[in-house]
Amino acid sequence: MKPNKHKATHSAEKEFGGALGWITLQSFLYLLPIGKVSEGLVLRDGSRLKYPINGFHALSITAVLLLVCLWLGMPLGYLFELILPLAVCAIGVSYLLSMYLYICSFWAPQHALSLGGNTGNPLYDFFMGRELNPRIGDFDLKYFCELRPGLIGWVVINLGMLMKEVELRGSPSLAMLLVNGFQLLYVTDALWNEEAVLTTMDIVHDGFGFMLAFGDLAWVPFTYGLQAMFLVVHPQSLSTLEAAGIILLNGIGYYIFRKSNSQKNQFRRDPTHKSVSHLETIATATGKRLLVSGWWGFVRHPNYLGDLLMALVWSLPCGMLHILPYFYVIYFTILLIHREARDEKQCRAKYGLAWDTYCRRVPYRIIPYIY
Ligand code: NDP
Repeated sequence: MKPNKHKATHSAEKEFGGALGWITLQSFLYLLPIGKVSEGLVLRDGSRLKYPINGFHALSITAVLLLVCLWLGMPLGYLFELILPLAVCAIGVSYLLSMYLYICSFWAPQHALSLGGNTGNPLYDFFMGRELNPRIGDFDLKYFCELRPGLIGWVVINLGMLMKEVELRGSPSLAMLLVNGFQLLYVTDALWNEEAVLTTMDIVHDGFGFMLAFGDLAWVPFTYGLQAMFLVVHPQSLSTLEAAGIILLNGIGYYIFRKSNSQKNQFRRDPTHKSVSHLETIATATGKRLLVSGWWGFVRHPNYLGDLLMALVWSLPCGMLHILPYFYVIYFTILLIHREARDEKQCRAKYGLAWDTYCRRVPYRIIPYIY
């Protein structure tokens, strides 16, 4: 028994080291002085934080490093066997990080605390996050975790599953290629449009606590990659027509998602820009205006609609006989319905009567005529 125990400890150390090594590599790429530097929205004390916009560079450099690893014969398919221990390590890292964040938040000035994560209930505040933008020097921990180690880790895991399929069956299946392609497009898009994350709820309103740390570092890479993991064990065959239909649906979802997000982001950054200046808006007491035409006049969260359509499409290459590949779309529907309700509450508190007028003008939340 003893040697086995020793072997297991040794292996756990290696996986924990691997997870930390991955985060260190992404931190190093984050710190590279490449790409532009952008300012976030104005904070409560009137200041604006600076953020490096080099996520796409980090993804590209990671891709080159992976190609070199593959060329050197590194068995990336081995990630399939490592999924569970790596997931446990990621959970461990997110716990440690959240504890660090919680403790450090007691030294943060009052204006740097989030409005939602300071109830005085330690468990709730630990979960929601007390500090809004915790930093080590210029290194913004929430912004870094939001789009780097977990999101890039997700597509690396997908690639590992594809390589496992190659090991087992000689070549990747069409279903695996579609899942990898769609999710790579989604991650690449998020990093290409990295600046847009600066106006999202996570960055603007939410504190950085266990909810976001666990979500970003453990939940995203290890549950969002379920379709590719499923395909390793349950190979699926797809006709060209089925594949074409699935690609078309993904294209529609992506179009709605990208166009609506870009429209709101552009409007918030510069309402006089020619791509948004013609849109109808309503005034609010805060001085900010709300869009009531264009994508945001179609439903109140058109970006969620596109995102949900894509989530469904990613499961389709896995067939209809198993619930597991549909886990993501089911969970994501619940998450976005809850998120939408949270956002409505915040917007109603912020914009009062103007928000009610907007809701009357645009009665559906996410799906026209349904919800
Ligand atoms: P949104 O980008 O939808 O931002 C909501 C904010 O937009 C509101 O608080 C309000 O802020 C502003 N807003 C709302 N209505 C209007 C309007 N009519 N005109 C102008 N501004 C308006 O929030 P999220 O951060 O939830 O989503 C961003 C993207 O990230 C989405 O595409 C979502 O699907 C995706 N996402 C993906 C996740 C994943 O795990 N894959 C998880 C969460 C989100 P204000 O007025 O203060 O500017």
